[in-house]
Amino acid sequence: MQIQEFFNRDLDRNEVGFLDPLTRLPNRYGLDAYLKTNNIPFNSDSFSGIFLIDIDYFKSLNDIFGHFIGDQILIQFSQRLIELSLPEAVIIRLGGDEFLILLGNIGESFKFANENGLRFAKDLLENLKEKFLTDQIEHQLHTSIGFMLLQPRKPLTITDLRYVDFSLYQAKRKGRNRITSFHEEVIPSLRNLGSCLEGNIDLSQFHIHYQAQFNLKNQIVGLEALLRWQHPKKGTLPAENFLYLIHQHNQILQFGDFVLQQVLETLKKISTCQKFQEIELHMNIIPSYFQQEHFMDTFQKISETYPLEIKKLVIEFSSHDLPKELSYINVNILKLTQMGVRFCIDDIESSTLSLNELLSIPIYCIKTNIILIDGQIRYEKVIKGLINIANALGIKLIAKNIETFEQLKLLKRYKYKYFQGNYLGQAQAIQTFKQ
Ligand code: GH3
Ligand code: MG
Repeated sequence: MQIQEFFNRDLDRNEVGFLDPLTRLPNRYGLDAYLKTNNIPFNSDSFSGIFLIDIDYFKSLNDIFGHFIGDQILIQFSQRLIELSLPEAVIIRLGGDEFLILLGNIGESFKFANENGLRFAKDLLENLKEKFLTDQIEHQLHTSIGFMLLQPRKPLTITDLRYVDFSLYQAKRKGRNRITSFHEEVIPSLRNLGSCLEGNIDLSQFHIHYQAQFNLKNQIVGLEALLRWQHPKKGTLPAENFLYLIHQHNQILQFGDFVLQQVLETLKKISTCQKFQEIELHMNIIPSYFQQEHFMDTFQKISETYPLEIKKLVIEFSSHDLPKELSYINVNILKLTQMGVRFCIDDIESSTLSLNELLSIPIYCIKTNIILIDGQIRYEKVIKGLINIANALGIKLIAKNIETFEQLKLLKRYKYKYFQGNYLGQAQAIQTFKQ
């Protein structure tokens, strides 16, 4: 059965759970049920388009205006998706602020279908920027869209959904408010990479690069470790191009251990050098790795070899990855704090945790992301106010992603003291710093 027929028929009693009660759109359960028994969504000679749409910073809207308003906006958002799509499109609320549109018959040749799909995605992106009006507020949203094509008469599989999810993930990582096309942007970076990350991995292809953090006097005060893949054919790949695959292939422990070992070894090597004496070394850890017993065992062992170095270590968690309950990671945080390790929360401006909750862990440092939209710093007022909060709490605040002199100047005017970004220095091998 084609996907439209599946959802347009009268659902029987045990299928009522296939519809989302808020928006009345089909939901993830409905999609799963469809995929289990039927999986050729559009039985025609044309390509179909898969679009995954996620609202940018929707949590902030909830935080500011409350869930009731958030719900009203979600209802209107779904109605707008229906208005903007052709009647034969199937729109699914996958969960939260994430919607999937399946659009059949968008072109018989790949090229034509790709152009049509991208045009549709652009229309969506633009039209979804029109203000939403509720009884109480008027609000403009931005969205990120992952897009991919499905071959004619091809079954829709979980793998396809993962690919389009990866495209959306890339759109978010590149700064949001954009479309990422799986075929044009993601496949080139993903093609053949997946199989390289199965089974035993050749870790000699992976390196850590370091991006410097500066103080007001333009001195290097910290380094952030960033994983890079020196791929034999594709050149140097940044972690965001393959992190998703590390997750998919369950290689988190192996990579986590590798990065930890490398970073501490580097710390040991550079500590003999006078100019690195005072430097702290930031490394990113995914909470799902950090909270495991495996991590603590590895860390205990490694710390015996590097007792001094771990005191210069600052573990960074992205606020996007933090669990809702910090108690899951709190035990390990406290143990490491006693050993002298410090903690930093990255992307603080988009944290969904309350300040009280965040402060239940010993935070040494926070980082904020300077995101530019149409040349303007997004949430400039937040960026401006954050420094007062950090100062009041006695927490170090680093502004990251600085790309231009103007941004740096503005941040200095706002009394920021620590800076990181490509304008100041790209991530590079540690030897480069030593020289
Ligand atoms: P990003 O820019 O990375 O997409 O971040 P975001 O703030 O939009 O958050 P994300 O997409 O990761 O998570 C969706 C948020 O939507 C989480 C929750 O706060 C909110 N949410 C999920 N379901 C509902 C709902 O039914 N009603 C309301 N009002 N909010 C919801
Ligand atoms: Mg979102």
